[in-house]
Amino acid sequence: MTHDEARTIITNRKRELGDKLIILGHHYQNDDILEYADYVGDSLELARKASRIERAESIVFCGVYFMAETAAILAPGRAVYIPDPAAGCPLADMAPPAEVLAAWDAITQVTRSVVPITYVNSTAELKAFCGRNEGAVCTSGNARKILAWALEKAGKIFFMPDRNLGRNTARSLGIPDGEIVEWDPGAAGMDRDAIAKARVILWKGWCPVHFPEFSAEDVSAIRTRFPGIKVIVHPETDPATVAASDLSGSTAMILEYLASLGEGQKVAVGTEAHMVYRAARANRFRIDVVPLKEVYCEDMAKITLEKLAQTLSRLESGQGRVEVAPDIAEHAMKALDAMLRI
Ligand code: SF4
Repeated sequence: MTHDEARTIITNRKRELGDKLIILGHHYQNDDILEYADYVGDSLELARKASRIERAESIVFCGVYFMAETAAILAPGRAVYIPDPAAGCPLADMAPPAEVLAAWDAITQVTRSVVPITYVNSTAELKAFCGRNEGAVCTSGNARKILAWALEKAGKIFFMPDRNLGRNTARSLGIPDGEIVEWDPGAAGMDRDAIAKARVILWKGWCPVHFPEFSAEDVSAIRTRFPGIKVIVHPETDPATVAASDLSGSTAMILEYLASLGEGQKVAVGTEAHMVYRAARANRFRIDVVPLKEVYCEDMAKITLEKLAQTLSRLESGQGRVEVAPDIAEHAMKALDAMLRI
C-alpha cells in the first residue's frame, strides 16, 4: 500500500464512520499520523478524553500498547484498537507483575503503611495491582499531586516503574535522597531496615528515550553553544539533568512553558524529537525551539499510515482490538479512578 492509498482509505473511513469513530494520538507520533487524530495529547489528556467519550463506538489509539489498554479500561463498552499491537513500551516491560508482587511481599512484611503508585506507563496488570492495594496511577503531569496524596495517606510510597520520575517528583516534594531507596529487581532484595527507613521506594526502571540519553553534560554543552538559552526537560530524565535545566515538566507542561516565553527566546527541549520539532514549527515566528538531543521513541514510530489504514478498513473484524481481562480492568479502573479524583 502506498502512502497515498493509505491516506485515501483513512479519509474515506473517517467520513463513513463519522461520530462512531475517534482517533486519539499521542504527542510522540509523527505528523502524518496526527493529521488524522481527532484529539492529540499526552497520557493524562488522552486518559481523560477516553473516560469522557460519549458517542464513539470505536477508538483507535495511535500510541503505544499500554495507552490503548488504559483507554480500553476507561471507556468500557467501546472497542479500542491499536494499529500495531507490537508497539510496546520498554519502561512498562521493566516491571513484570510477578517481580513486583515479590517486592510488595517483602515490603509489606516490614510495614502495611505503604501505598503503591504506578506511573501510567505500565501494564494493566500493574495498575490492577495498585487498585487492589488502595493505590493509584499517576502521569508525569500529576505525579507531584498523587505522591503528596499517598505520603499523607501512609507516609511511605512504593513507586513504579520509572525511577527518574519517582526521584524527581520526591525531590520536588522536599524528600531528601537519604529517604529514597531503589528496589532493584535484579538484586537479591533489600534489607528490612532500608525498607523501614525509606519514605519512597522506587522501582529501578527507566525510559530509554529519556535516560541515559539526556545528560547534565548535554545541558551544559548547549548552554555553552547558545549563551542565554533556556532548557526544559521531561521528568523521565535523570535528576542531575533536571537539576542542570531551568525546568522539568510533562509534555503538556513543556508546551505551556513554550507558550509563556517572550518573543526571540531560544529554548532547548529534552524529550522525544517528533514532539520537539512539531513545537518548533508551531512556535517558529515567535521563539526558537531546538531539541536538546535528537532522540525518537522506536515503539511510537511503529504506528504508520499504512497500519492505521489497515486497522480502519477491518474494524468490523475485531483485528487489532485491545481487550483487558474483566478482573484486571475492574481493579485497574480503581487505581485510574483514584488518579482522576485526586
Ligand atoms: S517514550 Fe519511553 S516511556 Fe514513552 S513509550 Fe517510548 S519507551 Fe515508553
